Amino acid sequence: MQLFPTIPSHPIRRSNSFYNSDFKKQPSLEPTTAIVLLELGCFLLLSRHETRAAARPTCPRRCPSRRGRGSLWWRVVWHGGMLLLAVAYVDVLSGMLHVVLDNPAFTTWPLLGPGAVGFQRHHHHPAGITVYPLINFVQEHLGGMAAMLLFGLFPAKWSAGAATPAVRLFYAQAVALSCVMMASHRWSHTMPDHLPRAISVLQSSGLLLDHHAHSLHHVDYNMNFAIFTGWINPSLNFVTAYVLHERSQLWLLLLVGWAALPFAIGNRIARAERPNGTAHKAQALSI
Ligand SMILES: [Zn+2]
Ligand SMILES: [Zn+2]
Repeated sequence: MQLFPTIPSHPIRRSNSFYNSDFKKQPSLEPTTAIVLLELGCFLLLSRHETRAAARPTCPRRCPSRRGRGSLWWRVVWHGGMLLLAVAYVDVLSGMLHVVLDNPAFTTWPLLGPGAVGFQRHHHHPAGITVYPLINFVQEHLGGMAAMLLFGLFPAKWSAGAATPAVRLFYAQAVALSCVMMASHRWSHTMPDHLPRAISVLQSSGLLLDHHAHSLHHVDYNMNFAIFTGWINPSLNFVTAYVLHERSQLWLLLLVGWAALPFAIGNRIARAERPNGTAHKAQALSI
């Protein structure tokens, strides 16, 4: 019996996701990776420009902090906390992305279609993602991440004020971790004997998705959608079982909302600063 409605043949041919990477034997740099690197470079340039502007006496209220960066201890705690948040954020992102791309309704959509076809072909050929170079596989999703990074290209005065550099750093961490997410999915399909010892330890300690947890997804494709750490899976399983069915197209809206969330939170912080003109209260958020 067919698990999904017939998938039109043309999106399969155009697919630039898992299915095609099964056949990319030589390591290569994807155009989307170059775009992501360019965007991250723009983050640096923008933040540098804004920090210089903040140092001028004419600095408007909503600009990055011009003053100190706090003690070393505070910065370690701040960056460690933010990294932990980014890990949790990417796990949720992986779950939502997987729910969306497993939905047959999206296979013919522009932009989204090839990725959806690739994810669903993966169900029929799970081990295919473990064969050819890892470096190719971890770039497959970067088109979507490039779109997400657009949020970070808004100048501070239009977005999260003094918190903007921190939000950009968070997005940069999220992109890096999303590549680990892709690798984690591949490792969950890799024979244990072929895994590096460090990865096996991370899997057995629960810091990365393990084979057993992910194999439950491949039974009926209706649970355990998160493919990074898998921490969110129990909650996500509850939501797809009792709140919002995994085939609902509303998941796409939720995914876009999740992608925009860090900037929305930063913007909220910026708004809270406006009434009394204390934009620099957020200096602790500066990087
Ligand atoms: Zn799936
Ligand atoms: Zn899989």
